[in-house]
Amino acid sequence: MQKTLTYHYQNLHQIPELDNQLPKTQEYILSHLPNCEITIIENGGILAYYHKNQETTIALRCEMDALPILEQTNLSYQSTNTNCMHACAHDAHMAILLTLAQNVSFIQTTSNILFIFEYAEETYGGAKYIIQHPKYQEYNIHSIYGLHIWPKLPKKIITSEYLMATSCEVIITIHGTSSHIADIDNQMDANEIASQFLQQASLQQKHFIIRFGIIKGGNAPNIISNQTIIHGSIRALTIEHLEFAKKYLWQLSTLYMMRHSNIIEMNFTEGYPPLINTLELIPTNIDIQSLSYFTTESFGYYLQNKKGLYVLLGTAQDIPLHSPQFIVPLDILSIGYQYFLQHITAEVAR
Ligand SMILES: [Zn+2]
Ligand SMILES: [Zn+2]
Repeated sequence: MQKTLTYHYQNLHQIPELDNQLPKTQEYILSHLPNCEITIIENGGILAYYHKNQETTIALRCEMDALPILEQTNLSYQSTNTNCMHACAHDAHMAILLTLAQNVSFIQTTSNILFIFEYAEETYGGAKYIIQHPKYQEYNIHSIYGLHIWPKLPKKIITSEYLMATSCEVIITIHGTSSHIADIDNQMDANEIASQFLQQASLQQKHFIIRFGIIKGGNAPNIISNQTIIHGSIRALTIEHLEFAKKYLWQLSTLYMMRHSNIIEMNFTEGYPPLINTLELIPTNIDIQSLSYFTTESFGYYLQNKKGLYVLLGTAQDIPLHSPQFIVPLDILSIGYQYFLQHITAEVAR
């Protein structure tokens, strides 16, 4: 089993591809899924269904895409696709599911198994298309499981209820009035108003954060800016906290418009839903911690209308995900395999 896990992992590591443009990865996956009913969902991913003549189905999900990074690991099996690297361990997640799929006929279970290989987790989230597809809805899915390799955590499986955030981008346009910078009577300086606004709008709370990554305004050093744009993100552990953060920004903009008699426009764009786990699905041998991250995960889409559980598999390493030096330790692949196996076989007792 370890041999198969390593074999798939190293092969997939060498052929990283981006977004939903995954011809080599898709070909590799499809060539190793015997006896599964295959559905390819446009923009979504691959569904591989193994029918065990049971009523309910357990779904296991992994991601297929890599990142636009030039690998710097010196591994013998490093990326053969320049400027593209599996630096988020999606190769390892795929290897675990592929190995399970190859062994599925020998596994004792009272459920059918659906393997989900998702496109574009790093960009738009193939999950959004998968959950809307009639074929996905046709399977009687009892619960869905996912896992992410996570450096900087001890070498074991760890999870929590509110594990990852929902996200939303906010673009705020502040209008001022242009004039010579020497015109001290002009108080409609969009840059100045924006910098005050940004300081008050940036918040870091326990359940949500508001931060801005972009500020753009003005055209010349001696002209007062008549338009400044600040572009940021909200991350929140629940939808309620996201709405609270949005309301805070609306109230702040109203206050600024009254104070400066200028105009502020605000636009929000939606990101991934929050990743909130179903507590009853957490096996007793797994550590529940009060752990929450303001990162996002498209797995949240599956949890909008199904029970499910997403866990982190620690690797006790210092090099973070998305680093050109990131390496998956080979010995943790079997921990991930055993974790999924536990869920498939636990259904026998249910
Ligand atoms: Zn990632
Ligand atoms: Zn990832």
